[in-house]
Amino acid sequence: MISFENTEIAFAGKSDKDLAWSHRLFKLMGKPWLVSLGKGLTNFALAIRLPIRGIIKKTIFRQFCGGENIQECRTKIQELANYKVGTILDYSVEGKTTEEDLDKTRDEIIATITEAKKNDSIPFSVFKVTGIAQTDVLRKANKSIENLSESESANFAIAKKRVEAICQAAFDANVPVFIDAEDSWFQDIIDALATEMMERYNSEKAIVFNTIQMYRHDRLAFLQKSMEEALSKGYHLGIKLVRGAYMEKEREVAQEEGYPSPIQPDKATTDRDYDLALEYLVKNIDKAAICAGTHNENSSLYLVELMEEHGISKDDKRVYFAQLLGMSDHISFNLTHAGYNVAKYVPYGPVKEVIPYLMRRAQENTSVAGQTGRELKLILEEKQRRKLN
Ligand SMILES: Cc1cc2nc3c(=O)[nH]c(=O)nc-3n(C[C@H](O)[C@H](O)[C@H](O)COP(=O)(O)OP(=O)(O)OC[C@H]3O[C@@H](n4cnc5c(N)ncnc54)[C@H](O)[C@@H]3O)c2cc1C
Repeated sequence: MISFENTEIAFAGKSDKDLAWSHRLFKLMGKPWLVSLGKGLTNFALAIRLPIRGIIKKTIFRQFCGGENIQECRTKIQELANYKVGTILDYSVEGKTTEEDLDKTRDEIIATITEAKKNDSIPFSVFKVTGIAQTDVLRKANKSIENLSESESANFAIAKKRVEAICQAAFDANVPVFIDAEDSWFQDIIDALATEMMERYNSEKAIVFNTIQMYRHDRLAFLQKSMEEALSKGYHLGIKLVRGAYMEKEREVAQEEGYPSPIQPDKATTDRDYDLALEYLVKNIDKAAICAGTHNENSSLYLVELMEEHGISKDDKRVYFAQLLGMSDHISFNLTHAGYNVAKYVPYGPVKEVIPYLMRRAQENTSVAGQTGRELKLILEEKQRRKLN
């Protein structure tokens, strides 16, 4: 049985110097007061245009991002490929509003597909619908497309065209594309777009993947409905399965606006539904493809078990495991070492533009109640094994 304990495999790609450097970074991020202070100082420094880009690029950016553009990411892509870990280029620029900028984002995502076509180490591409649409129109469309004004309708049609252009490019290049899951107030319309694209492009195999967040209590039923629809219409269902990244915001907005929270009552229920969803998809693998986007060891092991039980070979392209760059290398590298398909999200973009993403990673790695975070613990174990102090 595979184990995630092996830090030698997990950190094989890191030199002693790299390891010492990651140690320092995770130690700093382990201090909540420092992360809060750093976040405030970064925003302040950017607001008064202090030249902090270089410092960020050499520290936290280096841990969690591949580069500022696709070309800069090539070194990281190769480093991961040396250990048979694939790359998913994730253009992580958020909050654009002009139509010109939204078109540029669409073009950048198509450029990631073109790059993937040329490089076997890039098994998937990815995008967020909110990155290529006016979010206020998307939010209204989520409630009802019929109630959009004439100009909103026209604007929504443009956003849909961008989704179509990306999915068409993915189909033409034979590079599967993930549509990320987002806040619930956008998700119905994202689901509708993803379903339409799957029906259009997935007749031979899964090219378009929707993402399902199992921290929502209604998603197991949604998964079953999606599978039944795919079966009845004869296309392959592509699903990236995640727990979900926006729990606090979801609960807050539900409370503020007075509707029942869409989030599960507790973590155990999210975990249960995640594993049930894995089981359901594996049982339907003849007409499905799965990417388990998770840093959870138990769920990763459970998928390994399910594959064995159902006679799915380790390198069957319909089953992938995925983690974020700079995190959970013990899962990624041990899985790939054992022969499973693994890819890392490699975020990239101009330093200033990816700061919101980096701040989320820093926040996630601050320690809870003085405990050593998991990443830091693993780095310490590997340093000990290498007899570094
Ligand atoms: C490759 C990849 C792609 C991703 N894509 C997306 C995406 O498209 N959309 C998106 O939203 N997220 C995405 N994520 C993030 C993901 O949803 C999780 O936030 C993150 O991976 C942590 O969950 P976990 O499965 O790794 O495991 P764990 O660390 O075991 O679980 C933490 C998660 O459990 C849930 N949880 C925690 N406490 C509670 C509670 N009290 N009640 C209910 N649930 C709780 C939350 O979802 C929390 O994030 C992605 C992650 C990866 C690795």
